[in-house]
Order: sequence, then structure tokens, then C-alpha cells
Amino acid sequence: MNTRKEHIDKAKKIVVKVGTSTLTHENGLLNFDRIDKLARQLSDLHNQGKEVILVTSGAIGVGTAKLGIKTKPETIPEKQAAAAIGQGILLHIYEKFFAEYGQIVAQILLTKDDINNKTRYNNAQNTFNELLSQGVIPIVNENDAIAIHEIKFGDNDTLSALVASIIDADLLILLSDIDGLYDSDPRSNKDAKLISHVEKITNEIESFGGGSGSKLGTGGMYTKIKAAKIAVEHGVSMIIANGSDDNVIKDIISNKEIGTLFSAQK
Ligand code: GLU
Repeated sequence: MNTRKEHIDKAKKIVVKVGTSTLTHENGLLNFDRIDKLARQLSDLHNQGKEVILVTSGAIGVGTAKLGIKTKPETIPEKQAAAAIGQGILLHIYEKFFAEYGQIVAQILLTKDDINNKTRYNNAQNTFNELLSQGVIPIVNENDAIAIHEIKFGDNDTLSALVASIIDADLLILLSDIDGLYDSDPRSNKDAKLISHVEKITNEIESFGGGSGSKLGTGGMYTKIKAAKIAVEHGVSMIIANGSDDNVIKDIISNKEIGTLFSAQK
């Protein structure tokens, strides 16, 4: 059994995924302070010699806020239009903050079709590898403007696990608005315990995520456990941690016991 430190210390290629709740304020507008700290920590990771990939949500949320619409868009075309508006804004802001730290970034937008098609899969893999070898941080999102239900990942937790497997990453860090995986719902049970290390994703662990019946589960855990299964099967360790903690990435890499680590399977 590898210790947490062994998993973290050997991680050279790292994928970080941030959710909309981490990037935006409650009114849907961008949280610049958070994005700045994210860009700073990722640029610093890169300067430490790590290869870094960012998977970001937020396009639909940011596009909706920009249009001044108060409620979440419901129809697919409405969501796609919001994503098309928001994605540009999102990248523009990332570009700006990463540039402060001298870090070049690139945009890659994917759909499930791209992963299922061998040629496109290889093309995406080559682009990632070339960007990483040039010291660039690729910023990835789902290509929401062209993806409809059948060709959608649907959630960026799954997308980030697949990206981690395409590029053969060592570690995937999922940043969300929760501290990690609990043994029961911490919102309703004050005695709920945070699980710090999952060696194997058993049925019991899956049940802590809320099971397939509930999308929300223990604070949106269902899709995160699904992502963990994809990641660990592809030899990628995964950590779920709270993105509202300003130094979360730095703390994880310096081996602070935060979040929940899922060990990569051999
Ligand atoms: N691709 C969506 C967006 O950028 C997010 C999907 C998700 O949050 O998992 O808005």
C-alpha cells in the first residue's frame, strides 16, 4: 500500500479540475480573486517542473450572468448559446491572469465523440503532448456549443478523468465546494467523517457518494466517484478537495492531509 506522500511526490503530470461554484460568486459573476489564486498556484506548479492541465467548468454560468439572465437556462440551445458566450469570457480571464505569471495557456474543447473516435483521440493526445512539451498549460472544457445529449460527457468530473487518462497523468485534483468524501451527508449529519484515503472503490465507498439514483448525493459526490473509478482504473490517483481554500493546490502538493485521495490501481 502506497502512502499518500508516495502518490503525491511521484506526481509529475497533474490535471486540476475546477467547478463553476469555485470560479463564480453566488450571483454567477466571476470570482477574480479565486481565479487569480488558481492561476498563480498552477503557474507555480509548472515552475516546479510539473506538467499541468486545467479542466474548467463555468462557460454556461458565466454566459448566463453576462446576458443578465437570473434563472439557469433550461433548453439545450439556451445552454449552448450561454456556453458560447461564456467560454470566450472565461478564456480571456484565464489568459489575463496566467499572463501575470508569465505562463502561456491554450484552449482545448472536447466532446465524447472525440474520445470515441480513434483518429480524433490520437490527434487530441498529440496536441496535449506537444503543448506540454512546450511548457504550455492546456485549459480544457467540454465543447458545449456543438455537443448535444448523445455526444456529451455531461459533467466535467467525467471529462477531467478522461483527459487524465488520455495524457497518462499521475494525479487528478477535483476542486469543488466540499472538503472531500464523507461517510454520510455532512449537511444533515454533524458526525459525518471525512475519508482521507480510499485504497479501493468498494460498494460501500460508492454508497457514500449517494449511488446512481441521486445526482446530488453527498454534495455532488456521485459524478466524482464515477470520475474516480475512471481515473484509478487508468493508473491516475485522484484527490477531491475544497476549491474555496485559497492555497488548496499548494497544500496538496506539499502533502497536507486535506481532501480525499483515491489511490491509482496498478
Ligand atoms: N461544460 C459546462 C460549462 O462550462 C460545465 C459542466 C460541469 O459543470 O460539469 O458550463
